[in-house]
Amino acid sequence: MRVLLVGGGGREHALALGLAGDAAVSALIAAPGNPGIASVAELRSVNASDPAAVAALAVETAADLVVIGPEAPLVAGVADAVRAKGIAVFGPSGEAAQLEGSKAFAKDVMTAAGVPTARAYVCTDEESTARALDEFGAPYVVKDNGLAAGKGVVVTDDRAAALAHAAECGRVVVEEFLDGPEVSLFVVTDGEAALPLLPAQDFKRIGDGDTGPNTGGMGAYAPLPWTPPSLVDDVMRDVVHPTLAEMRRRGTPFSGLLYVGLAMTAAGPRVIEFNARFGDPETQVVLALLETPLGGLLHAAATGTLAQHPPLRWRDGAAVTVVLAAQGYPAAPRTGDVITGADRPGIIHAGTARRASDGALLSAGGRVLCGTATGPDLAAAREAAYALVGTVELAGSQHRTDIAAAAVDGRITIPG
Ligand code: AMP
Repeated sequence: MRVLLVGGGGREHALALGLAGDAAVSALIAAPGNPGIASVAELRSVNASDPAAVAALAVETAADLVVIGPEAPLVAGVADAVRAKGIAVFGPSGEAAQLEGSKAFAKDVMTAAGVPTARAYVCTDEESTARALDEFGAPYVVKDNGLAAGKGVVVTDDRAAALAHAAECGRVVVEEFLDGPEVSLFVVTDGEAALPLLPAQDFKRIGDGDTGPNTGGMGAYAPLPWTPPSLVDDVMRDVVHPTLAEMRRRGTPFSGLLYVGLAMTAAGPRVIEFNARFGDPETQVVLALLETPLGGLLHAAATGTLAQHPPLRWRDGAAVTVVLAAQGYPAAPRTGDVITGADRPGIIHAGTARRASDGALLSAGGRVLCGTATGPDLAAAREAAYALVGTVELAGSQHRTDIAAAAVDGRITIPG
């Protein structure tokens, strides 16, 4: 099977490692890829959000399967353009990707499907925003309606800051605050059949103890020792299958990866958000534990044959990933600094580039790379992941020191 992987961040590096490790994958091409992906795939340049360009590349490379990593190409309709060439695609249509592309659309689907989520209003002016904020009270939650790379959400006790964020965004979703630890559950689906992966937790804020602004994600771990044993079954029954049924009913079935972001509240799991693709950096830990060959799994989802796929197999133990971010991230990341010590197994590249003159590795994004490690338990995996990032040198870099710490210490509790 020849696979074309679209994207060039840490998620795609993790996907590339999984696909390259599948004996059924005879050729792996990544576009545009990154210097880390280059060690396991042939790189091609492409504008990943240009449907015609990606479809042409899929034909040119004789791909049997196209895997689309990031959300922007999905929302732009890249999967539709590739499918129109008769090539199997892992990733939803542009219409189905609106589950991520529009928070208002996602809320509408959740309401129709009876999915437990925060009460919310869609607001486009100051008056309606203020009314919604006052109805729910602090902490205030204001979400940009459109794609914002995980940074469009403001959660604050400061009413003026909440109003200012709404004014900046234009169209927002204002919703009630959900109190409880968060879980990311990835579900592979062909639109009807659905296979859940291991639940993971990520760390959205830049600072230790969940302080500072939201980021794309600063680290992750799996599995979660503190969740109730019935969690995955409950979420498949109450969230995933009703949502997939509602999408089919609308004539826009969702296939690919449904990312369910949950808050474990006193009243039970509540959906915080849907994404239409693998999450970054949770993918790094989830795939590090997946034993089932990745190419075959994604191909089954892309070809509507997931119901015949064997049950997933997982490695024992745990995985942790720690993100190394550039100085100034998330507000104004500095790029172009030399990175040393990154060429080793377990280092996943996200925002890196090679200097043309001498091949030196440079920082080229906010989240630069992450160190991913497994271990017999969470404590061992955590230690190994920190040892790994500790070997990397990047001037001014930042990373959280508390990834998975509360879980290791048994300090995570579900309210109620
Ligand atoms: P989202 O982009 O919707 O995932 O939101 C980003 C982050 O903001 C989430 O991971 C949560 O940490 C936080 N957040 C979003 N919605 C809520 C909510 N209703 N209550 C509490 N926190 C939220």
